[in-house]
Amino acid sequence: MANSCKDRESAEGEIVSELHPAFAEFDPENTEIYLDGYNVVVETNGLPNHKTVYWGLGHELYQAEPNVQLTPSIIPNFNGAATLRVAANPEIASSTTSTSLGAIGIAISGAYIFNDQEGNGPLGQAASSLDYTGGHIGPGQYHYHLEPKAWTNDDENLVGIMADGFFLYGRKCHATGDHPTDLDESGGHSTFTQHSPDIEYHYHIENELYLNQYYLLFAGRYQGTPSRIN
Ligand SMILES: [Zn+2]
Ligand SMILES: [Zn+2]
Repeated sequence: MANSCKDRESAEGEIVSELHPAFAEFDPENTEIYLDGYNVVVETNGLPNHKTVYWGLGHELYQAEPNVQLTPSIIPNFNGAATLRVAANPEIASSTTSTSLGAIGIAISGAYIFNDQEGNGPLGQAASSLDYTGGHIGPGQYHYHLEPKAWTNDDENLVGIMADGFFLYGRKCHATGDHPTDLDESGGHSTFTQHSPDIEYHYHIENELYLNQYYLLFAGRYQGTPSRIN
């Protein structure tokens, strides 16, 4: 980064001149990502770039999943586009913030990250409607509640970006090649990653079983300052 880029600082952080290397993992067909002053802007069409039963019969990415108790919705019937505008250099906030229903992050596939709630209750009863990659739809956007096995399964792969600007990785950390043991209550810690030689804060999917068989994507509170995804 050129020194001139460090001349102006604010509570939001610094103006950055280059996109964080992690953004190269996002599907360029489904997302458009660019810098705007202190912020990074992530625009997505909200569509997952992988197979799921929720594409509906006849779609090229449809696959049968007989064990899934389908919600009444299919992906092509919805316009799930949304935008996240958040600090390009996010910082830990002085207090944490609870997540809400709806999108709390954007996955590299183009679809959305949700928390551990469904409607106004715990995920449990809705878990039977989740596809092989922890996703489902209804009534709005296709979204994941669980470790998205379409592209990460007990590894260090990037999952996506949370609404507070921090990245979410799989159950293992690049810094050790293993499950981190120093995570905070949000599943976060500060180490280097495969996308950053500098130590930076990031989240992980926590390596703790939920209902004896699932790994929740993100069940904690934001450690940064979240922006809306809409
Ligand atoms: Zn859901
Ligand atoms: Zn880590």
